[in-house]
Amino acid sequence: CGIVGYIGKRDVAPLLLEGLQRLEYRGYDSAGVVVSSPKSGGLKMVKAKGRVRDLEARVPKRFTGTTGIAHTRWATHGAPSDENAHPHMDADGKVAIVHNGIIDNASDLRAKLTAEGVEFLSETDTEVLTHLIARNDADTLEEKVRQSLKQIEGTYGVAVMHADFNDRIVVARNGSPVVLGIGEKEMFVASDVAALVSHTRQVVTLDDGEMATIKADDFRTYTTSGTRTTAEPTTVEWEA
Ligand code: GLU
Repeated sequence: CGIVGYIGKRDVAPLLLEGLQRLEYRGYDSAGVVVSSPKSGGLKMVKAKGRVRDLEARVPKRFTGTTGIAHTRWATHGAPSDENAHPHMDADGKVAIVHNGIIDNASDLRAKLTAEGVEFLSETDTEVLTHLIARNDADTLEEKVRQSLKQIEGTYGVAVMHADFNDRIVVARNGSPVVLGIGEKEMFVASDVAALVSHTRQVVTLDDGEMATIKADDFRTYTTSGTRTTAEPTTVEWEA
């Protein structure tokens, strides 16, 4: 339902929780957040069924990081629960994703992955994409995501973090909105400009079939077949 992400220098958890709160008007049944800090490298996750404030109550004191993604879920596959809340991570804790939309061929992919020995931690359609990315052996995160998206049918707005590529967040859009927010040595991503406008008015709206890599000081956009696209930021008008 709602996606917020950030990469920069600020302490990310409070910023993402604030972003989720700005998306509350859309409705949701659970929420979650993953953060990473350049020092420790690993991904730390908290999720909760219920309100953003229930999630906030679970966030530990030392949940520091400067990169993160967060989500409010409107369940389509699997009941509202802590486990089914996004983000979804693989068992090794390398990959974390948040996803809006519906993966139509999820049950086929789940059966195939289960037969290959993958253990699923949730009932969601989204989790198949986590495992496809985690098991992909391409050299770059962009290529892992691109090749994995080729295997899924359905709609997505998706944001991906990877512990081994922790200088970036990779996002993609097909039928579910994704907007980049361009800051000063910091970048934002969201499913709705409402989550960004308190930080920046410079935005890039992705088209269907488009992906982007955001780093603290840089972003680039390209198609799901790998061709670079030009994306000039535009200024959004917004009455506070
Ligand atoms: N289909 C996914 C799920 O049920 C995403 C739902 C959403 O867009 O929030 O977990």
